Amino acid sequence: MSRQTMSRTRVSDAELAGMTSLAPRSDFPLLAAQPHLHYLDSAATTQKPRVVLDAITRYYETVNANPHRGAYRLSAAATEAYHHARVRIAKFLGVADVDTLIFTRGTTESLNLVASAWGRANVKAGDRIVVTRLEHHANFVPWQALASAVGAEFVIAELHADGTIDLDAMARLVTPRTKVVAFGHVSNALGTVNPVAEIVGMAQRVGALAVCDGAQGAPHLDISVDSLGVDAYAFSGHKMLGPMGSGGLVMRRALLEQMPPYQMGGDMIAHVGDEHTTWNVLPHKFEAGTPNVEAPIGLAAACDYLTALGRGNVLAHERALAAQAMAALAEIPGVTVLGPPANRRGGVVSFTLADVHPHDLSQMLDADGVCVRAGHHCAQPLMRALNVHATTRASFYVYNDASDVEALAASVDAARRKFAG
Ligand code: PMP
Repeated sequence: MSRQTMSRTRVSDAELAGMTSLAPRSDFPLLAAQPHLHYLDSAATTQKPRVVLDAITRYYETVNANPHRGAYRLSAAATEAYHHARVRIAKFLGVADVDTLIFTRGTTESLNLVASAWGRANVKAGDRIVVTRLEHHANFVPWQALASAVGAEFVIAELHADGTIDLDAMARLVTPRTKVVAFGHVSNALGTVNPVAEIVGMAQRVGALAVCDGAQGAPHLDISVDSLGVDAYAFSGHKMLGPMGSGGLVMRRALLEQMPPYQMGGDMIAHVGDEHTTWNVLPHKFEAGTPNVEAPIGLAAACDYLTALGRGNVLAHERALAAQAMAALAEIPGVTVLGPPANRRGGVVSFTLADVHPHDLSQMLDADGVCVRAGHHCAQPLMRALNVHATTRASFYVYNDASDVEALAASVDAARRKFAG
């Protein structure tokens, strides 16, 4: 169903919040060029607004040079642009100590940085690492690998049937031997929003490192990383309207200063002797080599854009759409919606349709212009617990509206009839 012809009478007043998009579709060149596309895969990556593309182009056309290197004015301007982007992104994330925001390629690199650099220096044989059953592989495998490399114990906090963490059981797992508690802010597979303060409390009681995978948190929640109380917070810019390969890690200064660098090379050194090398100050100590300057430049523009949209409105908008989608899908025979109730999730709706393989379903949806994700969502440990191999996942963001929900439901229903026949 097209945006122009959608019926506005089928949606109740309570759901009005999701009727119109939060961001004008015309701000997004790809969406504007394809008016019949229903892009419902923002948990994987978001579309990019014109302001982000323009910021990157403007940087290359007017400022491009290698930052931190040359004494000439253009290089100084590139250094300034790179620094200014860090200041804006730190402000957006609620990080007061700007230099504790380390730019990386995204959440995966950030979590590997913590597991490698902090983990190898601090986790020993006999220690314990606690993760949850909800984790994306990026916040599971690095910890599992660290545990197996140093002889630590790797334990998984299990879930209630609705896909929320069993916090009592988790609290029992976080013992004085625990050195790391790694958990996601919001699940990419089920949309579950986790209670950060309670989990941080468990880690703090035993002096463990609280590591939060914010890949699905930073884009959607109006957060201040400083007030979350976590020791480390990882995020990906491409899931919040920014460019691919942008993102970062926020970590407590004292920890960053104590731990060894992650990668060695240019920019991260203070002095290189024949036998010993000393490290640069933060953030440079953790940013070896020529940085991907366009990434933070574009991401800073994305942060400004989200701020102008009203960041506090994003979750409510997505929730309204997710609630509509859950209700519409639940009416379709054979559909099972997985995960918690709408008020405990972000804009993610994972479901199965009888014994139809999610890949087949998503291909049928694609024929109707509905882009959804099908697969294990990089969460195989979770899929095992749910007893499914894969799910179909629709994920909503600022440019979606009720017509996307209607198109999704209509297309799933058409697929159901086709497979049944
Ligand atoms: N964690 C979560 C919860 C995610 O959704 C993702 C991306 N699907 C990642 C980690 C990894 O992010 P990236 O691929 O940007 O490094």
